[in-house]
Amino acid sequence: MLLIELAEASQRVADTRKRGEKLALLAATFAATSDLELELAVPWMAGVVLPPRADPGSEESAGKLGIGPKLLFEHSRRAPASSPTLDLEGVERRLNALRGLQGKGSGNIRAQMLGELFASCTQQEQRFLRGLLSGELRQGALESIVVDALAKSAQLSLASVRRAQMLLGDLRELARLSRQGEAAVAAVQIQLFRPVLPMLASPAEDASAALEHLGSAWLEWKLDGARVQVHKRGDEVRVYSRLLNEVTLALPEVVELVRGIDARELILDGETIALRKDKSPLPFQVTMKRFGRKAVDPKLVETLPLSSFYFDCLYADGSLLDAPTTERLRALGALVPKASRVPSIQTKDAKHAAEFLRSALEAGHEGVMAKSLDASYEAGRRGQSWLKLKQAHTLDLLVLAAEWGSGRRKGWLSNLHLGAIDPGSGQPVMLGKTFKGLSDQLLKWQTEALLSREIERDGHTVYVRPELVVEIAFSDVQASPQYPAGLALRFARVKRYRDDKSPNEADTLDRVRALAPDI
Ligand code: AMP
Repeated sequence: MLLIELAEASQRVADTRKRGEKLALLAATFAATSDLELELAVPWMAGVVLPPRADPGSEESAGKLGIGPKLLFEHSRRAPASSPTLDLEGVERRLNALRGLQGKGSGNIRAQMLGELFASCTQQEQRFLRGLLSGELRQGALESIVVDALAKSAQLSLASVRRAQMLLGDLRELARLSRQGEAAVAAVQIQLFRPVLPMLASPAEDASAALEHLGSAWLEWKLDGARVQVHKRGDEVRVYSRLLNEVTLALPEVVELVRGIDARELILDGETIALRKDKSPLPFQVTMKRFGRKAVDPKLVETLPLSSFYFDCLYADGSLLDAPTTERLRALGALVPKASRVPSIQTKDAKHAAEFLRSALEAGHEGVMAKSLDASYEAGRRGQSWLKLKQAHTLDLLVLAAEWGSGRRKGWLSNLHLGAIDPGSGQPVMLGKTFKGLSDQLLKWQTEALLSREIERDGHTVYVRPELVVEIAFSDVQASPQYPAGLALRFARVKRYRDDKSPNEADTLDRVRALAPDI
């Protein structure tokens, strides 16, 4: 395949905003490649240049391309060739020749070779290559479209191609396997010392909503520490962070504990956290002081020891990723001492779950996780198999308007528009709406109370003087482009009207912002 074909396809992919069109363009391009070309085209279309595959058995890794922004800027602006001649393998050979350059004079040779490469490109090829080598083509969304397009072009199941990429993290290898067919892709397994993205959780409204969704569930304390994935083979132990950075040297106590576990090959998922003497947790920022250091700081290890608590087992002398939660927990229970596992219960009773949540909060922790008993380990996914329950917050907010209800609530003002006071202007600012938590009695009362404060109406909405203060429970403050302060409440529900509070005693926007320091 000629480089110009990739460059043109890349331009067309960039020109359309429709995902379906991008997919079709990429899939058609991939389908037109030879096996070797596909191994180049797939990473390049995702914006990455991978080193050549190392010879089996070779310890040596390929050198760096060594093309920084300055070199690229100075030597890529050559008069373009009038017609395209370069093919993918030729370009790869010339890039690899740059990797081999070392020592005295190599800077000049590199610059000259780069200039010659760009001089053999047409204008469009130059644009593509410059984007590729500068990293400008690379973006997260592009990789996911490229992976899906590869599945489409090779007529493989989307789920198995995505799963393989999650476990491999290597588009070149994925491309190679895709040509070997479904069985080869499906056979990709988690490997020791190659971390997989951690499984994540979605928020749940409360314990009963979580159990309604999951049925009988596994509940664990949710600790606000740092996620660790620990890999062990014999005596060798390595620790990876949530973002898959290796943090082994920073965490000697994690290494020591896992090294002592009686399993030859093991991967554990857990949380490490700094605790006080009374076992209550120190703030997240304190735990984080132990990270980001290249070498172990023995003094810090001594003054700020970390405890680790494991909640999943991904590998125990074989992969457990596809095994149901119960089986992974059985492996965890058999290998990891109780003191190093997160406190947990199994229940289908919402009251029992709410008590367990209270016990976690009383111990100073963030909340609980509710996990499906039969889900596999969905690496990298924030799905519905793990649900997080945190302490509900409450705010006293002003009612700004209400919408007429429908169905059972027809004839009553139901959905409330809620606002906090902006301390700058003294005016209320809307943060969201809710009709949850309102009894029939309250609906009736608030309809009268709001109509007597009406200032105007449009469509279904009655706007009122902001005089009523209502206590609202909610799970989180989230970023929202929809509301004027850029903030909205998640899972808001009415607790009660605060007739003991005057409007100027309602909570301020500053209090709301303090609940979401990262937004
Ligand atoms: P969040 O960051 O709020 O989406 O919550 C997910 C994070 O909670 C995970 O990445 C873990 O670091 C942390 N966590 C704490 N305890 C648990 C637990 N028992 N199970 C899973 N994750 C946990």
